[in-house]
Amino acid sequence: MSDRAKTAIVIGTGAGGGMIAKELQGKYQVTILEAGGDFKPLSLPINQLARFRHSGLFFDARLIRLLFPNMLAEKAGNMVMVRGIGAGGTTTLATGNAARCDGALKALGINLDAQFEELYRELPVTTEHQKHWTETTKKMYAVFEEMGLRPVVTPKLLDAPQCVGCGHCAIGCPTGAKWDTRALIAQAVAGGAELVTDCKVSGLELKGKSVTGVRAKRRGKKTVFHADLIILAAGGLGTPVILQNSGIPCGKTLFVDPVLCVAGPLPGFGQDKQILMPFISQQDGYILSPYMDYLSFFFNRKWYLPMSDLVSIMIKLADEETGGADGGRIDKALTPVDRERMERAIARSREILIRLGVPKEKQFLGTLNAGHPGGMLPLTAAEKDTLHNPSLPDNLYVADATILPKSLGNPPILTIMALAKKIAALL
Ligand SMILES: Cc1cc2nc3c(=O)[nH]c(=O)nc-3n(C[C@H](O)[C@H](O)[C@H](O)COP(=O)(O)OP(=O)(O)OC[C@H]3O[C@@H](n4cnc5c(N)ncnc54)[C@H](O)[C@@H]3O)c2cc1C
Repeated sequence: MSDRAKTAIVIGTGAGGGMIAKELQGKYQVTILEAGGDFKPLSLPINQLARFRHSGLFFDARLIRLLFPNMLAEKAGNMVMVRGIGAGGTTTLATGNAARCDGALKALGINLDAQFEELYRELPVTTEHQKHWTETTKKMYAVFEEMGLRPVVTPKLLDAPQCVGCGHCAIGCPTGAKWDTRALIAQAVAGGAELVTDCKVSGLELKGKSVTGVRAKRRGKKTVFHADLIILAAGGLGTPVILQNSGIPCGKTLFVDPVLCVAGPLPGFGQDKQILMPFISQQDGYILSPYMDYLSFFFNRKWYLPMSDLVSIMIKLADEETGGADGGRIDKALTPVDRERMERAIARSREILIRLGVPKEKQFLGTLNAGHPGGMLPLTAAEKDTLHNPSLPDNLYVADATILPKSLGNPPILTIMALAKKIAALL
């Protein structure tokens, strides 16, 4: 028998990829393939960039990549899909919210208690930021309470004392206070894993029920990687494309958690200088939370005021699982059920703004966008013990948002990482 170390390839470095690479390194000799490069925060000052808003330069949200190469924005009808490309995946753009949302997985018989316990032990999950809330945040919290919206302080992946409350969580935390999966990749690499960046996987070579090669392009050159075990974690929009390119179909079951901000003018309010999403109100089918929306600020003409003079409430929906990404083209729209939910949420948000001092006629909406894609190869009860879809080759696992069974309408990072841990333990 050969004493060669078993090898594994992990594709992607976001929530799922970062966690499973860290967990597998040691058991396997891991190679991590990442389409993007190192993460770089948005470097130009917001006020300086904001001056260009009137020039017509920012006419399409997809141009955000020119300012911020790690953020990819794509259009699906009138919705803008946002995701992170590069080391850390979309976790680098996240606002650090750390919620346990495994109800649908539990209903399938998948118990993640042990994995969540480990996560809470290993990661800096905290609500300590509340101690540093500004008067603006406190005022917003009070209005939510007064309206019976039961706001709950958001647990964050955060080194709270390092947070300067600049509100830049989603464009690159300048102090490193916000945790993201680059920390896990660093751990995997310290343990001997190899990280290959600027390496975009296009498809898998299959023979019978095995993956025999991973086709990729690295700095313009085609190459094929080989390993005993392959983990796909290219995200809810990246993984299905790789599977489909390899002849493995995915379902038309895409969810994205659509986001819409309701905003208005409030001179000197200073919401731009607060941690994003400091608290969350859970409603029936959606959540509400204070959120300064950079996408709307740069690309939506109604958001022409300075950021410090705006107030903005985010609506995030749990959407119906209908949509796909055939050949990389994203096909997703709000269903009548989603729209009804959205209307209810808009009415609630308008009432919040009125209580904060913005009359209804001065309020406006942001750009419809979404950043939680997943669900196109959903786990079912039949896979509760294997976490392996039978349409996949035996040595191929998916460990990202693609396998979530339902839209969460809530922050998914922690739940994806718990699943990735459980898959790693099975391997
Ligand atoms: C602005 C914003 C804020 C958010 N805030 C939060 C939050 O506070 N809390 C929370 O829980 N969730 C948040 N989310 C959502 C969360 O970040 C994602 O749901 C989560 O990161 C998804 O994990 P994943 O592993 O499925 O994919 P990702 O984290 O997107 O990782 C996919 C990885 O695969 C790589 N990749 C893609 N295609 C290829 C390819 N062909 N070859 C090689 N590599 C590839 C990507 O570069 C990336 O590294 C936010 C999302 C956005 C957009």
